[in-house]
Formats: sequence, C-alpha cells, structure tokens
Amino acid sequence: MIYSLMALTLIFTSLIGWQLYRVNKFKNEIQDLNRYKIIKDVMEVSSREKNIIKGLRDINSVILEELQMDYSSFFIYNEDTDEISLKETNLINERLNRELTDIKEYRAEYEDTPRDFREVFEENKYIILFSEVDLEYPTAGERGIKSSILIPLIFNSKAIGYWLIEDCSTKYSKEIDKEQLVILADQLAAVIASGLYTYLDPLLNIPKRDFLLEFIEDSMQNKDKTSVVFADIDHFKSVNDNYGHNIGDQVLKIVAQLFQQSIRTTDMVGRYGGEEIVFCLPDINKEDAVNRIEDIRRNLERAELELSDETIIKITASFGVVTYPDEFSGKVPPEEILKKADERVYIAKEQGRNRVVYR
Ligand code: GH3
Ligand code: MG
Ligand code: MG
Repeated sequence: MIYSLMALTLIFTSLIGWQLYRVNKFKNEIQDLNRYKIIKDVMEVSSREKNIIKGLRDINSVILEELQMDYSSFFIYNEDTDEISLKETNLINERLNRELTDIKEYRAEYEDTPRDFREVFEENKYIILFSEVDLEYPTAGERGIKSSILIPLIFNSKAIGYWLIEDCSTKYSKEIDKEQLVILADQLAAVIASGLYTYLDPLLNIPKRDFLLEFIEDSMQNKDKTSVVFADIDHFKSVNDNYGHNIGDQVLKIVAQLFQQSIRTTDMVGRYGGEEIVFCLPDINKEDAVNRIEDIRRNLERAELELSDETIIKITASFGVVTYPDEFSGKVPPEEILKKADERVYIAKEQGRNRVVYR
C-alpha cells in the first residue's frame, strides 16, 4: 500500500514537472517567436524605403509598438566631424531634441561617477546602462523618464551610433530581455549602416544628389517656404593643379563637413556633383536664409583648412540663393529652382567670387 502511494506521488510529481517543463518550453518558444517577429518586421519596413533617414521613422514606429516603450531615439556618429547627431526620435519637440543631442554623460545605476557617452565609441563594445534613479542627462527629468537603456549600434566591430530607449515607468530596468535587445540592436546597426552607405556620398559623407532632390521636393510640397542654395568652390581647379587631386579631395571633404556643421537639424546639405554642394533650408524667410549663408561664407573665408600633412589651405566659395514660392509663380519642379540658384552662382563668379547672390 505504502509503496503504491509512493509510486503514485512519484508519477504525479513527474507529471507536474513535465507539465511545468512544457509550459516553460512553450513560453520560451513564444518569446523566440516574438524575437523573430520584431526583427522580421524591422527588416520588412526597412526594405520598403531607400532613404534611410525616412526609413528610420518607420523602423522606430514598429519598435515603439512592439516593445511598448515611451521613447526610442537613434543617434549616429560622424567620424569626420567627431559629432553625434540625433537622426530619429518619437520625441517631437525641437528644443528637447536639441538638448537631448547634447548628451555628454550618463549616470548608470550602481555607479558613482557618470560615464561618458563616448565610451561607446572608444571601447567598441556593448554597454547597456540601466537607471532608475538619478537620470542625470538632459531632458530626462523634464519628461519623467524612470528607466532608460543605451545600446551601442555596432557594425563590423565598430560603433556607428547608439540607440536610446526610455520609459516613464521602471519596467525597463526590471523586465527587459537584454539578449533580445542586443540581437535587435545588431540587426538595426546592419540596416542603418547599409542604409547610410546608399544615402551618403562616400567621399564627402553628406547626402547624395537623389536624396537631396527628394528632400527639396518634399520641402517645397510641405513647408511654407524653401530656400535652395547652390555653392561652388572658387578656383578649385587650381587646388588640384597645385597640390594634386588627393589634396583636392581632402579640401572638398573639409568644406562639406564645415557646411554640414553650420546647418540646423531641419536643413540638408548634399553633394550635387563634383565640387558643387547644395543646401536646402526649409521654413525660413528669404532674409534669414541669406544671412545664414552669408555667415557660412564668412566662416569658410576665415577658416584655415588643415590637411593631413599639416599644410594649411585657404579657400572660398560662391553662393546663389533662391526662395520658393516667393520667386516663382505657381508650382515648379526642383530642377528649375536649382537652375536659378546656379545662375546666381555664375553671377557671383562674374562679380569676383566669394560672395552670396540672392537677386
Ligand atoms: P570657379 O571659381 O570658376 O568655380 O573655378 P573652378 O576652378 O572651381 O572651376 P570649376 O568649378 O569649373 O571646376 C571644378 C573643378 O573641380 C574641376 C574638377 O577637376 C574638380 N573636381 C570636381 N570634383 C572633384 C573631386 O571630387 N575631387 C577633386 N579633387 N576635384 C574635383
Ligand atoms: Mg563647379
Ligand atoms: Mg568651382
């Protein structure tokens, strides 16, 4: 009797054990499916859009919905300028976005001293930071962030940027599946790196002509005003002739990066062709656009461009500014605006170069 009771108990316990095992196995399978689903969904939305900057918006919507978090932001690192810029976020407030881009350090949970955000790039390894208290970085307190995670986006063993996930509850410091986030971050890094490769000019590291034209067209359709500026470097042929094509390339790259650093986050500067660079400044009146470009012209004139062999070169450029719709009657294609801007560059050259022509 006692033996059969023991045998029965044994059978029951192992049955329960087996059931528990099955339930757990089932849970893991579901989790694996979810992992797979979010990656699959991210890959799918990213394949629809050639323009990675627009694509990031779709990717972010999928992520926000599937991970159920309050904020998700992508920051991309530019090696040439050593700058980090905010490329996509669901935080819609220009002031807060600007402040968020200025994140320099981050205090992680259990750490006394703040960590420098740039460790991500210097150490080239995963640093996942959780924090429930003392979220000491810009705008976190103002937005009521209770937990946040910073994950480097690593591609080919190099950090290309980072991904900041934030929530107004403490759930992300407790329940998060870190492994899932790291797998997802790896996929995102690959998508972003290949997207940027398509999007950016390989020499100048600014958007290519196609994307520039698309941006101008978008701005003309959706903004009240759009200023388009054509810039052409003065006597650039003589730089090539005097120093060689290699140095010419370096000069062009430095000029492009100087332009890139001078624009607002809502503007675009792209390579139109050769040594011709075009700016698009949405939502700004003509006078302000001209003043901005005049500042940029003056900064370039004053800049001493230092090359890799420590030679110093001085360079200037001529600019033609055109504003839509002010100077046009009715709808026109972007090419027409560019043509007019180019004609003004020609006038600037005739008048002696190193100037801004806007009439
Ligand atoms: P201007 O003041 O009239 O503009 O004189 P310029 O010498 O700059 O004349 P132009 O704009 O007609 O010449 C452009 C030169 O830029 C010719 C071409 O060899 C050079 N160039 C165009 N693209 C590149 C490039 O990617 N790298 C280098 N090194 N040179 C380039
Ligand atoms: Mg030219
Ligand atoms: Mg030129």
